[in-house]
Amino acid sequence: MFNPHRLLRLLILLVAALSGAISRGPQASDTQANDSAKDKVPQPNFVVIFCDDLGYGDLSCFGHPSIDTPQLDRMASEGMRWLQFYSAAPVCTPSRAALLTGRLPLRSGLCSNRRRVLFPNSGGGIPDSEVTIAEMLRDVGYRTACVGKWHLGHLPEYLPTEHGFDSYFGIPYSNDMDRIAEAPKGSTSIFRPRVEYFNVPLMRGQKIIERPADQTTISRRYTEEAIKFITTNGDQPFFLYLAHSMPHVPLFRSEAFKNQSRRGLYGDVVEEIDWSVGQILSALRTQGLAENTCVVFTSDNGPWLSQKLHGGSAGLLREGKGTTWEGGMREPTLMWWPQTIPAGQATSALGSTMDLMATFASLSGAALPEDRQLDSFDLTPVLRGQAAAPRDHVFYYRAYELMAVRQGPWKVHYQEQGSYGTSPRKLTKCDPPKLYHLEHDPSEMYNMAADHPDVLIRVQKLVDEHLAQLDPAPTLLEH
Ligand code: MG
Repeated sequence: MFNPHRLLRLLILLVAALSGAISRGPQASDTQANDSAKDKVPQPNFVVIFCDDLGYGDLSCFGHPSIDTPQLDRMASEGMRWLQFYSAAPVCTPSRAALLTGRLPLRSGLCSNRRRVLFPNSGGGIPDSEVTIAEMLRDVGYRTACVGKWHLGHLPEYLPTEHGFDSYFGIPYSNDMDRIAEAPKGSTSIFRPRVEYFNVPLMRGQKIIERPADQTTISRRYTEEAIKFITTNGDQPFFLYLAHSMPHVPLFRSEAFKNQSRRGLYGDVVEEIDWSVGQILSALRTQGLAENTCVVFTSDNGPWLSQKLHGGSAGLLREGKGTTWEGGMREPTLMWWPQTIPAGQATSALGSTMDLMATFASLSGAALPEDRQLDSFDLTPVLRGQAAAPRDHVFYYRAYELMAVRQGPWKVHYQEQGSYGTSPRKLTKCDPPKLYHLEHDPSEMYNMAADHPDVLIRVQKLVDEHLAQLDPAPTLLEH
């Protein structure tokens, strides 16, 4: 099919190549240098499977007693479990923006509806000035596909195909949006969901192909689309970003998974995602691509606890979605790359979804954007089982508010706010700050501030350095 963007891109590449040849002349040494650079970087494929509102405790390999995830458990036994891996925000849009740009959400502005960019009906979305992982990898020859939930703007200029992805198939925002006026009010539409209550579109490229999207088959169809992309013949490396709409409410699953899980409906939904992961890894094996593909499985934020039985579990972590307690931002994360990532290891190294950008750049030979501040660390040494993580801290933001900071095992809370319906509802300053030792006390129960004033001083120094280098200026932080 004719694609004007692709044509434009090819023309730009052609002009760039010609101008290089004209200015320098065709020299054999250049060709050899290029060839040897290519030889040095084998350019692995990348698959990122990003769940929506899946909790830290929702997989059997992360300790859930009644959700069965044999495929993810196998992925864990063949790959690496990350026990301290974080999203960059406790809610959907900023978390997605951060993963794709390697930057804290406040740097792109994709973190608050106060700036009218969070919700799809605001007319806003990901700014053109941001560089996504897809754009970065496409520049070094990758095929790219986005399948699933986008939620970085639904108008044409914000869609995935305008931000580095060759193709898009999915529901462009949360599956609980566009509720029809006739749907039951309040939580009834969520707790007794029907497809027709939520008039969400299913899109291919920039076209709506189904509305309302039949959500009962959405996890299955995302999987089929992902596998079609993986198995499409081509000698280019690829980047697949598969962002499941589930297990965000309203919960739906295919016929084959109905009433299968001991955990009920929520378990059915997670078990279908588990099946999906199995299908994708199986397709990679069948295609002979397993040993050249790095697969990352994680979630955008913690479980939506106020959805009761329709929400997941953060296991022993405190709280869930919407909060900067550990349950809101620490995610059940697996990385799989046979023969490269050591099999069956669990790492307690710190990692963030923002680190995927620098990691993929390092592994592919792509160039990171140099004209902006990134918050991305190259995790390659950990993946290869060679060294400790380069990351030693985590900033916990809620919109523009710096709520807490982790440095090593210590976490300092400067402000608190509960998720919807939990205490405290209002943003509250912690004066004095609260201090928890996350290795001794992963559930954040025992405030150690009075015993460790030295730690508070050390972390405050990190905060001061961080705020000093923020652009835009920290006035946005509203401290
Ligand atoms: Mg979410």
